[in-house]
Amino acid sequence: MKHFDLFKTIFALCLMLMPIHQSFGKGTGYSPGQTVPEDYIKNHGYGVFFSSQAIPDSIFALMQGKTFKKDCTVARSSLRYILCLHRDAKGNAIVGEMVVNKDIADDVLDIFRQLFIHRYPIERMRLIDYWDADDEKSMTANNSSSFNFRCISHTNKVSKHGCGMAIDINPLYNPYKKPLANGKTVTEPAAGKPYLNRNLKFDYKISKGDLCYRLFKQHGFKWGGDWTSMKDYQHFEK
Ligand SMILES: [Zn+2]
Repeated sequence: MKHFDLFKTIFALCLMLMPIHQSFGKGTGYSPGQTVPEDYIKNHGYGVFFSSQAIPDSIFALMQGKTFKKDCTVARSSLRYILCLHRDAKGNAIVGEMVVNKDIADDVLDIFRQLFIHRYPIERMRLIDYWDADDEKSMTANNSSSFNFRCISHTNKVSKHGCGMAIDINPLYNPYKKPLANGKTVTEPAAGKPYLNRNLKFDYKISKGDLCYRLFKQHGFKWGGDWTSMKDYQHFEK
């Protein structure tokens, strides 16, 4: 009888732990960047793809000397590795990944869940480390990303991306128009210049009042497209 009780207890514990195991996105068999068949989502639900966890060792190794530079003053423990699903403009469901600050991890997960449910298109969501933490290259690939350690130029202040408190969405189509000291402006990424014309209609464009804008605003983020001295249409920060 005693053994039977023990068995029951272990069985109950296993049942309890199962959702936790699933919630970390393990066992789906799909990796970041992969397209998930609609049948799989229908049978397993989309929830199993959405998770936030401490930075796994393999991811931390990948980040070394790239987004997590030698002089990084942000602790690994204040960052989170997020997995999610997003849809591209063709409607494909793709596994996405992002490193963000732990203080916004729940917000970001909630926003990405809503964007997926409502089929808001995001083309690519891989770690910027795959582009050697080179922002221009990652933006040109229309890659949505967050954490990339750096200080604001000529200061010791960590930038919003440097602490994972800012997120860039569909950056190629939502470029950054940066004023220079000489009065001229520069567009980042350079390939995004045609999309500075916000009167044009095109896929992946963030417009004031659209779902992406509303969700970030509801979660307390500011949008770079609202700024007056410069325009950063891809950028949301808290
Ligand atoms: Zn940004």
